[in-house]
Amino acid sequence: MMTAYDVVVAGGGPAGLQFARELGARTDYAVCLLEANPSLTDNDKSTGGTFEQVIDGFDVDESVVMGDSEHVVFEGPTARERLAIQNYVLDFPAFLDWLGEEAASNGVEIRTGERVTGPIVENGAVVGVETTDERVRGRLTVDATGETGVLTTELGMWNRERGQRGIGKEFEVSGTFDSDAMVFRFDHEVAPGGYAWVFPGDNRFKVGVCWVNDFHDRHAPDDRSIDAYLRSWLNRDDRWRVDEIHATHAGAVVSDNSINQRAADGLVAVGDAVSSINPLFGEGIRPGMESARMAADVAIEALGAGDCSRDRLAAYERRWNAEKGDEWRLQRIVGELLYDFDAGQQDAFVRSSGTFSQAGLDRLQRYELTLADLLRLYPARASDLSKLPRVARHLS
Ligand SMILES: Cc1cc2nc3c(=O)[nH]c(=O)nc-3n(C[C@H](O)[C@H](O)[C@H](O)COP(=O)(O)OP(=O)(O)OC[C@H]3O[C@@H](n4cnc5c(N)ncnc54)[C@H](O)[C@@H]3O)c2cc1C
Repeated sequence: MMTAYDVVVAGGGPAGLQFARELGARTDYAVCLLEANPSLTDNDKSTGGTFEQVIDGFDVDESVVMGDSEHVVFEGPTARERLAIQNYVLDFPAFLDWLGEEAASNGVEIRTGERVTGPIVENGAVVGVETTDERVRGRLTVDATGETGVLTTELGMWNRERGQRGIGKEFEVSGTFDSDAMVFRFDHEVAPGGYAWVFPGDNRFKVGVCWVNDFHDRHAPDDRSIDAYLRSWLNRDDRWRVDEIHATHAGAVVSDNSINQRAADGLVAVGDAVSSINPLFGEGIRPGMESARMAADVAIEALGAGDCSRDRLAAYERRWNAEKGDEWRLQRIVGELLYDFDAGQQDAFVRSSGTFSQAGLDRLQRYELTLADLLRLYPARASDLSKLPRVARHLS
């Protein structure tokens, strides 16, 4: 069977849905979104922590916001700093459902339970996708399949092997949490080679652990699973009382340095499918949606001109690399050091964050730290010189 649209979007996470929402709201093109899961709400991997750039910048409906807070707390093994950074916690499945409704209300056809298996390539250009039982053609195809990057991987658009891999797992629980702030804890005893978090919500809160595999291997004293670490933190911290675990969210992340190929003839890639995720803290909703908006701006012009060649679509890639790519590369270097800190450095890093002015905290939240900020945050040790070869690989 064969169907045809102007635009075919593979994947219904925040990035694919936002791309479809932009096209639906701004054009009359026939847009179809193919999501492998039976429902958009089945993608419940994410904690949904986010910031004003998402809530205000994408007009997110308050009904899908579980909680908000004016402070972020950074903790080390012994240090603790409360930072004035406004933040929000999304009900992630409800958020996806809402994005889908927004897109559908503007004519986008959302087709769930449809797994994309690969691109259709003719004369070197992508002209649609194969699903398990259909060929779906499009003048433009979008890969938004998340970290599996179903199309970008087959097209060889970025080097997944060079990417840094991590995992995260959290419980959404009811009970009481004696804090109004979003807490990030850098402490190898709780999350070896990563960080742990607790995000407040109205009636429920979210407690999670994540790590970068390379650093976990170096800092974990044992081979306990992420589930064991998460349960251990959940049970031992007396700031909360857990009545019931309502949901488990978990998933993997691959972060490259994000100077990636984002456009091919007939195709653009957005979100985690092309490693848009911020490599320092693993925040992916905001950059995924931002990549979708940038791609949509270029796609609308390309479709209007009847030219979806790579030459035309590469304007999106250039914009991403100019606005985010170099920043992300720097953040990855900082992450390489942060997750390898010893306990004393973790505490020193946390204490330094507490010395930041409001303008500095705003730069931290926007991932726009200056070299002076980074030097202030970074608790250098002579032994860190041995890390330089590992850090240098991110410069290419
Ligand atoms: C445990 C955990 C916690 C996280 N917490 C946060 C957080 O608090 N804040 C934050 O900003 N980010 C967080 N992230 C990262 C964030 O969730 C992702 O970066 C973000 O969801 C990426 O959006 P996306 O649309 O690119 O991909 P995804 O959300 O992965 O969506 C991709 C979609 O494509 C579908 N799909 C995959 N393959 C196919 C196929 N072959 N055919 C059709 N459909 C397909 C998937 O089912 C999925 O629905 C977290 C990640 C994890 C793992």
